[in-house]
Amino acid sequence: MTRRVVAVATLNPGKLREIRAILGECGLELRAVDDSVSFPDEGDDYEANAVQKARAAAEALGVPALADDSGLEVDALAGAPGPRSARYGGSGLDDAGRAAHLLEALAGVPREKRGARFVCIAALVRPDGSASSARGVCEGRILAAPRGAGGFGYDPVFWMDELGAAAAELPPSAKDRVSHRARAFRGLGDALAALD
Ligand code: IMP
Repeated sequence: MTRRVVAVATLNPGKLREIRAILGECGLELRAVDDSVSFPDEGDDYEANAVQKARAAAEALGVPALADDSGLEVDALAGAPGPRSARYGGSGLDDAGRAAHLLEALAGVPREKRGARFVCIAALVRPDGSASSARGVCEGRILAAPRGAGGFGYDPVFWMDELGAAAAELPPSAKDRVSHRARAFRGLGDALAALD
């Protein structure tokens, strides 16, 4: 049986691996986009960003496309960096630099005030232009120093309350059970099953 081709509109290898693992049982052929698809600049709204990215891929490739937009919301920073998480600290920083910038911003903030959550909106855009989306959240706190070598982005500084470990210390299968991304993409299950 041929599997339904669905594009995954991300150039972030960490996200791509997680989305493939989370949707592994869906019977879809998840095809990564390459840099021939150009994505519009991102704004400050997770859902609009996710739908925009999926729409760019669906229009370019003529197949249904998935995308996510995600971010880290830190209580002590009034919810920042949020949808700007990938740009936090300026364009010269890599993942480790952004995590270090966050730790500096939280210097002196005690453990009980370091609450944070990862938020993800997953979007599916069909070739006819219609869109579905779902939200997922994963609660935790920001550590005092990085821990672990796995994952991507802010994983080394994010303690996952449900699993009692830094996200970067966990095997991918554990993070993928309860992460914000897992919850958001599982929320698209019915929309994905209904693709013809
Ligand atoms: P965007 O969704 O492409 O705007 O990027 C979201 C940014 O949030 C990523 O570049 C990461 O820095 C951060 N982020 C989102 N999800 C995760 C995650 O699961 N682990 C670590 N960092 C994440």
